[in-house]
Order: sequence, then structure tokens, then C-alpha cells
Amino acid sequence: MQIERLSAWNDQGDQPLIIAGPCSAETEEQLFNTATELYNNGIRIIRAGVWKPRTRPGTFEGIGEDALQWIQNIKKKLDVKFAIEVANAQHVELALKYGIDILWIGARSTVNPFTIQEIADALKGNDVPVFVKNPLNPDLALWIGALERLNQAGITKLGAIHRGFSTSKKVKYRNLPQWQIALELKRKYPEMPMICDPSHIAGDRELIQSLSQKAMDLVYDGLIIESHINPAEAWSDAAQQVTPAALKEILESLVIRKSNT
Ligand code: PEP
Ligand code: MN
Repeated sequence: MQIERLSAWNDQGDQPLIIAGPCSAETEEQLFNTATELYNNGIRIIRAGVWKPRTRPGTFEGIGEDALQWIQNIKKKLDVKFAIEVANAQHVELALKYGIDILWIGARSTVNPFTIQEIADALKGNDVPVFVKNPLNPDLALWIGALERLNQAGITKLGAIHRGFSTSKKVKYRNLPQWQIALELKRKYPEMPMICDPSHIAGDRELIQSLSQKAMDLVYDGLIIESHINPAEAWSDAAQQVTPAALKEILESLVIRKSNT
């Protein structure tokens, strides 16, 4: 695969790439207040789910296009970039129309080559950075296949997000880390930026710090962490989100071994 090094397009220098923000954009006020606090704590790339792939129907499925307008409004006031999840061609078109800076593909999409191909085709001719989360199931070939489909569509600002793998067992983590699968991807494609999503591995905000440190010990290139102005009241993934202040503490506690960038 032809992949640009992270340092070629990320302006955070040799620091780990940090993306933080709410699981979901809920209201313009929630998104603005969260982004502002994160900005004041040094975060420059905000994540926000606009379309949410919920396991069961009848739960909050995201705001959609209106949230893209909120993002545009916030970017006029704060010097931040935004990253969102896209799961089909229409999401890609809208994300590009509203100038979203970074896209990611969720774990439920990575399992489906038809979906990935549709997204890849919609991205042709664009230069936007795209991160691909590992598939729900521990299948390295499927993860690599998704990255290859995007790369073949001309996406070279490409990276991987390790968010853990589904399990039916009741264990400490919501998703098993299975670090060796991500490390195998890092070994095969050393130039591929690899960031860790401790929030979706953990499912529990108390575990975010230790997972983040583990990722730094394994020389990951960065972290994507869910942060909400009022985590307990979040409309999705309430148990795993941290306040911007707690996030700052977590980030300050991390021992950074070395950067790959
Ligand atoms: C998310 O990032 O909020 C999300 C739905 O993640 P995943 O695809 O890893 O489950
Ligand atoms: Mn989430």
C-alpha cells in the first residue's frame, strides 16, 4: 500500500495524534461546549458521531446533516479540525460538502466489503485523511482488505484505529483488545499510522488511562478518546466518556515512549 506518513499531514509535530470529543453530536450547545473545553485543554481535533450505528433500533441514531452545520458553525469560532464516522456514500458526500477534516470508518462497516467499496468509490479523487477501525470480529485480513480498498481508490492519508474486538464473554473490557492483531498490522505496514480507541475497548471511563498508557508503551501514533461535557447524561456510550478536564489529566499522566511520526 502507498501510505503517507502521519508527519506529512498532521501538524501536531512529533506528539501523538490526539482526537477527542463526544461519542455523538447531540445538541449544538453540547457540541460547542465540549469542543470549547477540549480546545482550552489543548485538543485540536474533535471527534463527533453524526450518524450512529446503534446495535438495537429505537435508540438515538444521530442528528445527521444538522450536526454538520453545527460543526461548520463551531469551526468559525474555534481553530479546530473535526473527525466524523461515515458509513455510506451519502455520508461521504455530505461530510465533504461540509468540509469535515478527517473521516473514520466504524467497526460495523469494516466487516462489510460492499460498504467499504461504496465508501471508497465515493471518496475517489479526494485527499481527505481516512482512518479505518478494526472490524468487530478479530479478522486481520478483513481490516487490511478495507484499508486496501481505500488505498486503491487513491486515499493515501490512511490510518488504522484499534478499538478492540467483540466478545460474548463477560470480561473486564467491552471489547477485547487482542493487542497482537493490531501489532501484526503495525508490523506488516510500519508506515501506516495506528491509533488506539481506548474508549470503545474499555466501555468504562475508569479504564481509559491504563489502556492509553498501554497504547503509548506499544508506540502507537495516537489516541481517539470519547469526551463529553456531561458524560453521565450522554445519549450514547455514557459509561465510557470522560469530561474534558478528566481527559487532560489522563493525557498529562501518560509516559510517551517515542513517536513513530
Ligand atoms: C464510535 O466511535 O462512537 C463508534 C460507534 O465506534 P465503533 O465503530 O468502534 O463501535
Ligand atoms: Mn461511541
